[in-house]
Parts: sequence; structure tokens; C-alpha cells
Amino acid sequence: MTSNGLEARASAVLPGGVNSPVRAFRAVGGDPVFAREAHGAYLTTVSGEKILDYVMSWGAVILGHDHPAVRSRLTTAVTRGVSFGVTCPPEVELAELICDMVPSIEMVRFVNSGTEATMSAARLARAATGRDVIVKVDGGYHGHGDSFLVSAGSGVATLGLPNSPGVPAELAKLTLTVPFNDAGEMESVLTEFGDRVAAVILEPFLGNAGFIPPAPGYLEAVRSLTRASGTLLIFDEVMTGFRVGTAGAQGTCGVTPDITTLGKVIGGGLPIGAYGGRKELMELVAPAGPVYQAGTLSGNPLAMAAGLAVLSEIRREDPYDALSASSGLIAERLASVAASRGVPMSVAHAGGMWGFFFHPGPVVDYAAAKAADTDLFARFHREALRLGVLLAPSPFEAGFVSLAHTNDIITETTDRLTDALDRSIAE
Ligand code: PLP
Repeated sequence: MTSNGLEARASAVLPGGVNSPVRAFRAVGGDPVFAREAHGAYLTTVSGEKILDYVMSWGAVILGHDHPAVRSRLTTAVTRGVSFGVTCPPEVELAELICDMVPSIEMVRFVNSGTEATMSAARLARAATGRDVIVKVDGGYHGHGDSFLVSAGSGVATLGLPNSPGVPAELAKLTLTVPFNDAGEMESVLTEFGDRVAAVILEPFLGNAGFIPPAPGYLEAVRSLTRASGTLLIFDEVMTGFRVGTAGAQGTCGVTPDITTLGKVIGGGLPIGAYGGRKELMELVAPAGPVYQAGTLSGNPLAMAAGLAVLSEIRREDPYDALSASSGLIAERLASVAASRGVPMSVAHAGGMWGFFFHPGPVVDYAAAKAADTDLFARFHREALRLGVLLAPSPFEAGFVSLAHTNDIITETTDRLTDALDRSIAE
């Protein structure tokens, strides 16, 4: 896969040649992909290869690339001006839609990225409780805010930077970590430090340590433990929000957080983030209340337009059975091929998310994820890409399907992945 000289040019002017670390493909060792355009389930590289996309803008694109509904709303929006700096109708409409679809969100504030959403949610939780400590899950990624770069997954895990230089040690001390799916550890931490803990933040389905679903009863236990210690529960649904169900993962799991963070899907591929919750909490946010948070481009009309197009489609179609059938098919076929080759593999899927580990399983937390065969993953990734399938270039990322991933496309994908597995075992 050639980059038509772009890789060298990018490396000269962008750190590591990218604007986000995982895009550099360092965990898998292949050539980074440079996209020219993308339509449906396919991405076309700058050198003209058409590849099947399972990154889908890291989960943001759920209807498929270049979806007509998104294109049409965006085209109209562009003709009206790309940014106003005062409130515009689509901000109100998208907020109403989100509040309607996610019952725990009575009010929402739009920001420009998931990182901003989680940083702002932590500030709100600290202000609301008068406490300073945040508890997060090992391998959970909540963007690159200082408080969250402690035992973070995703690109941080890939780069082996459990604590980034530049994060003040004094601040990092205010973040405690516990293993995912371990209600006992959560109980111990909240018993010992509960009166200092402002919030527990977690991804209800861990999507940045590979893809790891919650064990039965785990989220319920976290909910009752946080309630008992007066700690707020933040569900970081930047990735899972509208990826696994119409009311977020919280709707699927039936567990209600105090604060929810969103991003990705709600912007239809444009830069966006949001945090929301009960009215009395959200009314602490400026200018309704004293917790300061602002943004020049927040509520940007183009991002709102794309988000409205996507959420309206989702609401009309309720596509999660279809998405789950696609992600299930790919995960199960991959698992059965691996089993027939005697390769240990553990798979999981929910809605439009799926993942696999070269590990006999069960993979219930980050420690288990890290014990998977990452060399085999890297070889498999490179072979899959050679055969025209783009998987996330790290073993600590989820895979994403969209509504454009038809049954035929999934079958084509699993055929190619079967070949890729055979080649990577033979290497
Ligand atoms: N939270 C979760 C769960 C994420 O997956 C991500 C990004 O992947 C973020 C927060 C940060 O979002 P952004 O990259 O938009 O800043």
C-alpha cells in the first residue's frame, strides 16, 4: 500500500506523521493508510486501493460513509454558514432528540470532542460532590485529559505510556484505578476512599482495551456501590452511545448513570462531544451555574446537522438488531475459523461493535487483554490489510460495523480474514 509520498511529507510536518497516535500503525508495523475518500463500507486510499473498513472513523460513522441523509443535511447546512457563535436551531433540536432518546439525560451540553466531554464531566462531578478523586477502570480510555491518562487503554496502551509525561504527579494521584468487571475491587476502593470519590467513570462496554462486555451484574453492582457512597457514576458513552442501542449502552444494560458523555456517532463523523444528565446537575454548568465550561465552536451547525441526520435515521430504523447480526456474524465466523486452525481466540460483540483477542478467554479485563498474542495480531492485521480489510491497527481497539456492511460484505470479509489468518499463522 503506497502513500504516494504523503507519508514522508506528513512525517516532516506532523509529529509521527499523524494527528492521533494509533493512525501511525506502530502497534502492527505495517504502512499507515492514507485515505482519499470513503463510501458505504469502503475506504479508498490515496493510491486507489478500495478496502473494507472496520474502523469507520473509530466508530463515529454508523450509517456508512457518505450516507445520503448526512450528505443532504450537511449540504443544506453549509449553504447557511458554517459557524455562528450564537445559538442556532439545530443545537436545540439535537439536544431535544438526545434527551428524548436517553432517559437519564434531561439536559446536555455540546462540546467539540469526547476528551472535552469527559474532562467537563469530571469537573462537574467534582463541583457537585465537593470531592476530588476520580475512579476509573484499568484500560478504560476517556480521552487525553490529564486526569484520565492513568492506566488508559487504546493508543496509550499500544504505546506503553501508562502515565504520559506532562501529567502532574499530584493530579495523577487523584485518579484511582480498578480492574473492569471486578465489583469486589470497586467495593474495596469505595469503602476505603468513598468519601473522597467524586465519580466513578467507566465505559459500560470496554472498547479501548479491545472489546470487553460487562459481566452480568457488574454495572448494577457499580451503580449500587456508587449510590451508597454518594459518588456520581459517569458512563463514558463516547464510543458506545448509539453504537449498541437507541438509548446508549445504558439502555441496553438497564443501568442509569448520573452523567453520560457522548461523542462520535452523535456528530455523524464531524467533531463533537457532549455531556448530559439530570437537570439539577446540569444546571450547575455555566451560565446556569458556577461550573465554568465554554467553547468557540461548541454546537457547531455542521456537526449538529450531521448528528441530526444520523440520530433521526437511528430513531426511525432502530438498526441495532441488524448491526448486532453483522458484528455477530463476523465475530463468530472468525472464532470458528480460528478454532478449526487450533488458534486460541476469544470474541465478543454488541450492536455495531465487535472484537477479538488471540487468547483462549475469557477476557474480562485489561490484564487478560494484555496477555493475548499481540505479535500474531500484528501479523494478522498486516495480512488482512494486504487482502483489503482494514481492522483497527492495535489489539486494544474495538472493531466497528455500519449499516452499509451488508451480509455479502460480511461474507466477503470473513473469507478474506480466513486467508489472512492462514497466512499469519504460516509466517
Ligand atoms: N471516551 C471514549 C470511550 C473514547 O473511546 C474516546 C475516543 O476514542 C474518547 C473518550 C475521546 O474522544 P475524542 O477522541 O473525541 O477526544
